[in-house]
Amino acid sequence: MILEHMQLYFSDRGVFGMKIIDLFNKNKQTVSFEIFPPKLETPIETIYEKLGDFALMKPDFISVTYGAGGTKKGRTLEIASKIKKEHGIESLAHFTCVGHSIDEINFMLRKLREEKIENLLALRGDPPVDVPDFDYSRNVFPYASELIRHIRRQNGFCIGAACYPEGHVHSTRIRKDIYYLKLKVDEGVDFLITQLFFDNRIFYDFMDKISMVNIKCPVLPGIMPIFKADQIKRIASMCGASMPAKLVLLLDKYGNTPDMQKAGIDYASNQLRDLLDNGVHGIHINTMNNVEATRTILQNIGLLRVTVP
Ligand code: FAD
Repeated sequence: MILEHMQLYFSDRGVFGMKIIDLFNKNKQTVSFEIFPPKLETPIETIYEKLGDFALMKPDFISVTYGAGGTKKGRTLEIASKIKKEHGIESLAHFTCVGHSIDEINFMLRKLREEKIENLLALRGDPPVDVPDFDYSRNVFPYASELIRHIRRQNGFCIGAACYPEGHVHSTRIRKDIYYLKLKVDEGVDFLITQLFFDNRIFYDFMDKISMVNIKCPVLPGIMPIFKADQIKRIASMCGASMPAKLVLLLDKYGNTPDMQKAGIDYASNQLRDLLDNGVHGIHINTMNNVEATRTILQNIGLLRVTVP
């Protein structure tokens, strides 16, 4: 099964692996998941137990987030490695530079190479919200574009980066955000993944805008299903995602009840179906580590590739 799933090739460094960019070059619409490492006080096995279930859904790759401020970075590496080695699924390790010295960044890049992880989502990152006196003095790269330039010089990695259809939450002008995005892509970005959004029209407008500045790399829309009204309001306010009226009505109607999860899964499924119909390169589902919800979404959109008991 592992060999069937993986498209293996012998890379220039003489190790087996697959670059995500090669999937897009095959002209197929990819399906990928985002998961996050458990909190440090929670055993790492809690996510390992779920990896097999996620792998059974045969995503093209699974991305693993990096804790704000670089916390849980060891866990990102360990989980990304496990996804690849034990489950035969390609992994994408998120990698942030905020608060890291150049030695720490190079050490992490070396570790990623040792684990034969070829795909990175290179990010500036944010400091942890609960660390008000966060030490910025160790910051070596103020923006993701500089991290990307550094990684690109080392050669060998397939590099993804973040983009923001509604503008980064701290940016004052969307036009400026797109200007900096173009600089970032030109440093050698292979593909982009968007911040979550709830209105596909925003994504389509964004695609028009970036095409006008000649950004041509594949862009994966990141979609997050809603499970509870309070949870999604908190997340949306942190990342600056706006909510269309029809979603606000759903949140008002179902709040934090179990029916919200069903409505949220339907909402995400409709968004994803529409995106696929409109020819996106692929879809990236922020699973929130919820296996059942992810499986239901794939079933809803006709992309559950195996029957799971
Ligand atoms: P950048 O691309 O550097 O952009 C940050 C801001 O700076 C933007 O407003 C941009 O317009 C502006 N800017 C860029 N260059 C310049 C310049 N030269 N001069 C002036 N302004 C400039 N965070 C985590 O901690 N861990 C994760 O795992 C994680 N995963 C993410 C996954 C996705 C798909 C997305 C969309 C975000 C993720 N984030 C994650 C959040 C991200 O780290 C934050 O949004 C962070 O504030 C910005 O990171 P970036 O890489 O987009 O930064």
